[in-house]
Amino acid sequence: MKILLFGKGGQVGRELQRSLAPLGEVVALGSSGEPWPSDFRQPEALRETVQALRPQIIVNSAAYTAVDRAETEVDAARAINAVAPRVLAEAAHACGAWLVHYSTDYVFDGAGSRPWTEDDAPAPLNVYGQTKLEGEQAVRSACPRHLVFRTSWVYARHGGNFIRTVLRLAAERESLRLVDDQVGAPTGADLIADVTAHALRQAIVEPRLAGLYHLSASGETSWFAYARYLLDEARRQSEVARTMKVRTMEPIPSSAYPTPARRPLNSRLDTRRLQSAFGLCLPPWQPGVARVVEDLLQPPAWVRA
Ligand code: NDP
Repeated sequence: MKILLFGKGGQVGRELQRSLAPLGEVVALGSSGEPWPSDFRQPEALRETVQALRPQIIVNSAAYTAVDRAETEVDAARAINAVAPRVLAEAAHACGAWLVHYSTDYVFDGAGSRPWTEDDAPAPLNVYGQTKLEGEQAVRSACPRHLVFRTSWVYARHGGNFIRTVLRLAAERESLRLVDDQVGAPTGADLIADVTAHALRQAIVEPRLAGLYHLSASGETSWFAYARYLLDEARRQSEVARTMKVRTMEPIPSSAYPTPARRPLNSRLDTRRLQSAFGLCLPPWQPGVARVVEDLLQPPAWVRA
């Protein structure tokens, strides 16, 4: 089985290189265009790459993920998040391949406090969410053999993310102010990649499982409580972390931290459809965060030896 992976250097892409390996030969491409054209700003070139490689599975973890910058770089966000996924979906359908694609909790407007189901009406608040919605709709309509996973608050050992930012700021500053009225579930890139491999394996033999699924860790938290949890973990795990500068943490409303892109307050995703379709169990968010904190605090083994 040949699997074509786009976005190999991203948080999810790096974990997918590991989790997809047992399913077949993984051809992993980044944005550099080597050795096959893979720049999502030139979507038509992607069609040629798919036609040349003729994979049985395409997994797209590439995306324009700079949420605030997307407000001004609308064309780039749309090319990468909406136009390129449409081309990939058409090319996948033309060669009979499955297409896995990722979307976001930001397709919702964040009203209420009930977890969003796949049947709820999207209403994005920002350009990133709007372009991601266009992308997922394009995939669903152009390639019947699709798995589209909407996820939330992604973190990993590598790449820029909230855990690394909070650890850095806690080392530099005496006080931190964090938004406390946006609620969601931090979700590890490793969990997303593992679920993707399990789901793909099953969908290939049961094509009726194609569809849109919400995929996040279970439980919920706010950015403020998430930061407090990860710093408590850091201090519990490491003496060095106990010497961090930070002394006070202040919960603030989103209104006190204006950003170019508006964010949804309620990012809770209802994952029951995914768990029951694939017989999977999504773990609570805390252990995955604790694991990444531990990894980030470890000095390299050759220093410890
Ligand atoms: P990252 O930002 O970590 O990685 C995005 C990847 O896209 C990078 O490998 C990047 O390549 C690639 N990319 C960007 N521009 C281009 C381009 N023009 N051509 C080809 N590749 C490009 O994203 P995540 O792994 O965090 O996200 C994975 C998926 O999950 C995405 O669909 C995202 O929308 C979704 N998601 C993410 C959330 C989050 O909190 N991060 C939350 C909810 C959903 P390079 O590094 O070479 O630039």
